[in-house]
Amino acid sequence: MEFRNLKKQYEVYKREIDAAVGKVLQDANFISGSQVSELEAELAEYAGVKHCITCANGTDALQLALMAWEIGPGDAVFVPDFTFFSSGEVVPAVGAVPVFVDVEKDTYNIDPLKLEEAIRKVLEEGKWTPKVIVAVDLFGQPADYPAIREIADRYQLFILEDAAQGFGGRIGNKRACSFGDIATTSFFPAKPLGCYGDGGAVFTDDDQWAELLRSYRIHGKGRDKYDNVRIGMNSRLDTLQAAILQVKLKHFEDEIGAANQVAAYYQKALAEAEQIEVPVVKEGYTSSWAQYTIKLPAQKRDMICSLLKEKGIPAMIYYLKPMHCQKAFGDMERLALDYSVTDDICNRVLSLPMGPFGMEDAKQTAGILADICNC
Ligand SMILES: *Cc1c(COP(=O)(O)O)cnc(C)c1O
Repeated sequence: MEFRNLKKQYEVYKREIDAAVGKVLQDANFISGSQVSELEAELAEYAGVKHCITCANGTDALQLALMAWEIGPGDAVFVPDFTFFSSGEVVPAVGAVPVFVDVEKDTYNIDPLKLEEAIRKVLEEGKWTPKVIVAVDLFGQPADYPAIREIADRYQLFILEDAAQGFGGRIGNKRACSFGDIATTSFFPAKPLGCYGDGGAVFTDDDQWAELLRSYRIHGKGRDKYDNVRIGMNSRLDTLQAAILQVKLKHFEDEIGAANQVAAYYQKALAEAEQIEVPVVKEGYTSSWAQYTIKLPAQKRDMICSLLKEKGIPAMIYYLKPMHCQKAFGDMERLALDYSVTDDICNRVLSLPMGPFGMEDAKQTAGILADICNC
């Protein structure tokens, strides 16, 4: 069994994908082919945002946003304590200080109350200037943007929406990548919209930031890439990946629907199982189900994970370690903030096989898991 059924997905789209890839190979326009700008227009329309700027991966996408805003030494950037490393990694990469913030115990997303506490502490200390809130749409569910926007307005901060896992999610009818002042996503193969290698994108409604992002991603280009007006990076989405994504984007809404059916199956099948807490999606929110993540009793989680693996079920732990415990951030000065929720859930979470083509896998997984937990 695959954790995310990518082989099945390829089987279903094989004819279309092979044709799209074949065309790129024939035209030999491997970098900046017309498929890239077409895809950017399609992605912007899908997300409901004016500009989409594709790039090499979701980590670069986050860093490009911080570069466009000129975030650097002396600036504080608020990042959830429970997320993938990239969300925090890009902050010291531009010379700024990451301030980690605890998450909500039911949605796993940044806790707006604790966010405001952290901002106040940074202001009281007076060492750093609060600049950006990185809000992560973890496991596919958008963060609490109504509350986060209020806080951002109150303290005059930018919201950087990290929708690497959240593409395809919604609050009401508004789609992920439209909530941040700048938003980013990743096309890593296992993300909700994945390509066949690395890829990413940045979204914004702001014309000036869009122009800066287009410059930074290609060596800080001015008129062209041989006229260099700032220090940038080399971060492009290649034409092959764009062609593959054009095919997959056509089927994406159907996939979000199918993933939600798989999630609904799990919710029902696991609701009665002892010891299992199923994930919570807020009223009015739609998840794109990058992960289906349950909570187990801390002292049994690793044992249940091993038993599942023995039976051929590839369960995974996302994430084992809070950001504030990662050695890479270790020598940074930090404030005495409360991380009790992240500390707890890191000991309890388990992600199960999930994806639009995973209904059969979910049935098998839920059956075996219920047996393990009920005996
Ligand atoms: C995957 C991921 C990223 C980084 O994306 P890459 O394309 O792998 O660089 C950033 N943030 C989160 C929350 C992610 O899950």
